Amino acid sequence: MIREVFYPPVGMAHITNKLSDLILYKYRNQKKIIINTSAQPNSSPHLGTITTLMSAFALANKIRDDLKVQTEVQFDELENSPAEIVEYNGEIFYKDQRHSYYNHETKELANMRRFKEILEILSTYANLPYYIRSYNEFQSNKFVRRTLINIINEKEYFKKLLFPSSSDLHVRTICPICGLGKKNIKKLKEKHNKNEIFLKGDCPIHGSYEINVTESNKEYVDLNTQFRDLTKGAAMLEEDKKNNTLTIMLDGSDWSGIWAQRIHTEGLVKLGFNEFPIRLFAPVILDWSGAKFSKSLYLKNDAYKDINKAFISYDNFINYYGVQGMNKLWEEVRSWIEEPKKFFRDYSVDYFQMIMEENYDE
Ligand SMILES: [Zn+2]
Repeated sequence: MIREVFYPPVGMAHITNKLSDLILYKYRNQKKIIINTSAQPNSSPHLGTITTLMSAFALANKIRDDLKVQTEVQFDELENSPAEIVEYNGEIFYKDQRHSYYNHETKELANMRRFKEILEILSTYANLPYYIRSYNEFQSNKFVRRTLINIINEKEYFKKLLFPSSSDLHVRTICPICGLGKKNIKKLKEKHNKNEIFLKGDCPIHGSYEINVTESNKEYVDLNTQFRDLTKGAAMLEEDKKNNTLTIMLDGSDWSGIWAQRIHTEGLVKLGFNEFPIRLFAPVILDWSGAKFSKSLYLKNDAYKDINKAFISYDNFINYYGVQGMNKLWEEVRSWIEEPKKFFRDYSVDYFQMIMEENYDE
């Protein structure tokens, strides 16, 4: 049954005719516009991850057509996300997607296969190039490292800003030999000066180690979400200046609001920036109660036992709806990008049930 859908004229939707109008104040004929989005390759992506990726491609497509400028999508792969938890002597350690395995293949490789398949489909739909940046590549960026060093040099302030309820900053290190990292850090063991940081770590198997972070070296450091969001903003501004590009961050709307203001913008102000990246937030998918549809919650309990299984993973989605289903979803997401009133809002699982089943019974 098709029900009527309403679009209240709220906030930005009220003052924006075209989404591409939102970037005009920073567009000075830069040679390229880059739409950046990210995801953890921790499983076959669920519907919400797919619609956010689609939003990035559809937005890039819209901007290219409206402004006649070269655009591309930059996908940040977060293979540093925890993939398994291991306990040693009562302490909790994690292994990331790159150091954790399904049989003989790393989880990163196995899960990225699905992401690459989706990115290829979307690249064809939008007729746009895309580029995958691994977390490893991100952390070795000199602007990211410079920003991390600057943050540590102002750690008293950033502790309160970025970690309001923790006893210290959390910068994770993983064992250079086996990849084990400590999950919870009560006290950050570090030494720093204006140009470098030394981080101490302990592996339950290989003993103590030290990681040195300078602007120009590449020793691996695992940044958690707050650090990543802030260092990414800083690096983006610097890279854009260096390369004559304009990068726009596109994430799910669960990152909008106080997170974007406090962690990102206030962090950048403290770091000395007086310009900020353009951030746009794609609609997220909500369950019946208005909570963000979460796969980990789904897997942990049967809270979503009545939900369409096709929405839980890309594999299920393709099995059930096929590539025509992806096409249908793409047309839906494209319509959000075409009309700001459809973009500046969220959608429920029930809504997707309705649009995906439309015409299927005929
Ligand atoms: Zn080790």
